[in-house]
Amino acid sequence: MCVVEIIIETTKDQEIIDINKDVQNAVDALGVRDGLCHVFVQHTTAAITINENNDPNVGHDFIQGLEGLFPKNASYKHHCVDGNAHAHIKAAIVGPSETILVRDGALVLGRWQDIFLCEFDGPRSRIVNVEVLEKK
Ligand code: ZN
Repeated sequence: MCVVEIIIETTKDQEIIDINKDVQNAVDALGVRDGLCHVFVQHTTAAITINENNDPNVGHDFIQGLEGLFPKNASYKHHCVDGNAHAHIKAAIVGPSETILVRDGALVLGRWQDIFLCEFDGPRSRIVNVEVLEKK
């Protein structure tokens, strides 16, 4: 098996959640020492990003900045379907995945970098797939 499925229960309408430990645990479970780790969220109103792990205000500012660009209460055609057009736009802009090197069993990230799940239409249960391709 080369894929681990992580289930994240989000608790807010919009938030970012540090999933670095969950991803590292998945890499550990897969037992790959060197390769590429692909993290992919299977939703159209959530995203994956890498951002600063030290100051939680960065996450707040990230959400606030996107809200300023794509406000929840703006006029969108998709709102007549399920009212979450802003979330689809934010998720598409940020993107559904990140790829991180794995070296000696550890994610290769900078000191201030962690992997985050971005929730734009919560709270919901989110599925994140972690796949590691082993270096030959
Ligand atoms: Zn929708």
